[in-house]
Amino acid sequence: MDQESGSEKELGQSQEAGAAPTGDEHPEKPHPEFEIDIFRDWCKSCGICVAFCPRQCLGLDENGAPVVRDAKRCTGCRWCEIHCPDFAICVREIAPAGEQKAEEAD
Ligand code: SF4
Ligand code: SF4
Repeated sequence: MDQESGSEKELGQSQEAGAAPTGDEHPEKPHPEFEIDIFRDWCKSCGICVAFCPRQCLGLDENGAPVVRDAKRCTGCRWCEIHCPDFAICVREIAPAGEQKAEEAD
């Protein structure tokens, strides 16, 4: 029984190994903006990128093809890009994290 509560505590405090960060841990923290490109000619609409996105930036259209629903939520984790079996999705930074990044550069 004690072991159970210990495990719950551990789960609440540490991220599971291999899990993508959701970005919801620090919602107030500014992050860079990203552009998400889906290459239709290579995409086979398997839905893996949608399933793996921890920020629900991607969704499926009425034909089951992936679409970008909310690029502003993207943290650039590249989980979608890494797991796409056909190299059909690409994430790139288009704007830095504003003031915070400028401070770091100084
Ligand atoms: S990089 Fe991909 S998986 Fe990560 S948040 Fe952005 S769209 Fe989602
Ligand atoms: S993982 Fe790649 S092939 Fe599968 S739906 Fe996403 S972009 Fe298309």
